[in-house]
Amino acid sequence: MVFDLRKDGTEMGKNMSEEKNVKRGMEQAVCKKNDIVTLTISAFSSEGEGIGKLEGYTLFVKDAIPDDVVKVCVMKTKKRYGYARLLEIIEPSPHRVEPRCPVARQCGGCQLQHCSYEQQILWKEEKVRECLNRIGGFSVCDMDLVLSMEEPYHYRNKAQFPVGVNKEGRLVAGFYAGRTHSIIENTDCVIQHPCNKVIVEAILQFMRDYKIPAYDEKNHAGLVRHILTRVGVATGDVMVCLVINGTALPHSDILAGRLLECLHTGRAEEPELQIKSICLNVNQEKTNVILGKQIKNLYGNGFIEDRIGDVIYRISPLSFYQVNPMQTKRLYETVLEYADLQGGEVVWDLYCGIGTISLFLAQKAAKVCGVEIVPQAVEDAKKNAELNHMTNTEFFAGAAEEVVPEQYQKSHGSLKADVVTLDPPRKGCDEKLLQTVVQMEPEKIVYVSCDPATLARDLRYLCDRGYGLERVRVCDMFGMSYHVESVCLLHRREKRI
Ligand code: SAH
Repeated sequence: MVFDLRKDGTEMGKNMSEEKNVKRGMEQAVCKKNDIVTLTISAFSSEGEGIGKLEGYTLFVKDAIPDDVVKVCVMKTKKRYGYARLLEIIEPSPHRVEPRCPVARQCGGCQLQHCSYEQQILWKEEKVRECLNRIGGFSVCDMDLVLSMEEPYHYRNKAQFPVGVNKEGRLVAGFYAGRTHSIIENTDCVIQHPCNKVIVEAILQFMRDYKIPAYDEKNHAGLVRHILTRVGVATGDVMVCLVINGTALPHSDILAGRLLECLHTGRAEEPELQIKSICLNVNQEKTNVILGKQIKNLYGNGFIEDRIGDVIYRISPLSFYQVNPMQTKRLYETVLEYADLQGGEVVWDLYCGIGTISLFLAQKAAKVCGVEIVPQAVEDAKKNAELNHMTNTEFFAGAAEEVVPEQYQKSHGSLKADVVTLDPPRKGCDEKLLQTVVQMEPEKIVYVSCDPATLARDLRYLCDRGYGLERVRVCDMFGMSYHVESVCLLHRREKRI
């Protein structure tokens, strides 16, 4: 059940001013750097830190969870809030569990391993509800049953390991510590596919044997920057891509040979893993962006395949592909359920990536048009339509906020859609796009979001222009991390304003 408070009443105004009052009382820090204080953690922050109040002043504490009583050291204070480091857990929260990963606290990859999975899910649901209500002005009561993961470990099909040298001068790979670029050594990550360990260790051994240097960020020297792996969990296809600060990798034929021999899964219930693509990605820029634009194949055709439901997808290293295949299927099934296609509909799938949602819906629609900004992903989308013998799809390369208004203008306003799906990156949709979507008068809009705050902002825009929020569902794609994925269904209520 969803009420739209901006339309239905004045309660929202009351909530907003209450919030302002609370903020007004917190203008001064009541503690200073290096103070040691005791706090009861009352909530999670939007990035998974614990929040504790010291005489009304907010302190963010990494690795603390609601209902923990903790001793902390204040690190930094600002006018309205500060940061503190966890020193001791005086009384553990009943939701606290032992992390499975020995480097969980140092590593920036997971933020919530010390919190029970059930509690993570409750928090994610609460976060979506809170954003929709506070930012969007809705009053969401019941959401559709949350889709939590059966096994919230080893679920990721994509890993990006930075490669570097540790303090002792040893070559290592792992993950960045939170908010820094120091590498926490770890090849056996508990949320990654188990095959990564063997692959990454084979590459490190090759680099040691042939004296191939890791990239040195400070001096913009050395060669190997990142190891990227992808696994098609349904097909068993594996891709290995080395991101290099150069245009060639010495002895690459030897590496390819070693990689092709290194995989034995030992997990009988899964399809046998097989490396189908080994490639180099050229990134010679002084940048934090992991991937460069150029791909050089060492083995295979430069892509792997995976299957979600009955649809086969071809995936290139530069294309976006959901990282959690089991949950992706459930997410797309929700999109299909919300779209409730009868067979005759025209669908626009905006931010379509390699056409994953497009093809899922094309099985039940008259026509699906997809729009995506990464040209390689659009190429993959077209190939994917062919691969699945789907002739009712069309894909456009470009920014959705440019392509869709252009197409609408070209059609002199006759471009209409029955259903629009939106699946933008965290920053949400550009207003220019939303404006055109409203003009296309779809009966239904299905919004897939990885950021509840921008979701709430965009839904407000649409609900002020003739749409009503009907259904909301959280689908957990990112167990152990603070990231939240949700799907919303909007119905058109009024004629275009
Ligand atoms: N629906 C797809 C992809 C979702 S991720 C899936 O489920 O797999 C978001 C996608 O939006 C990425 O592929 C990204 O490349 C693309 N993107 C980012 N900004 C864009 C923009 N302005 N216009 C169109 N696509 C964009």
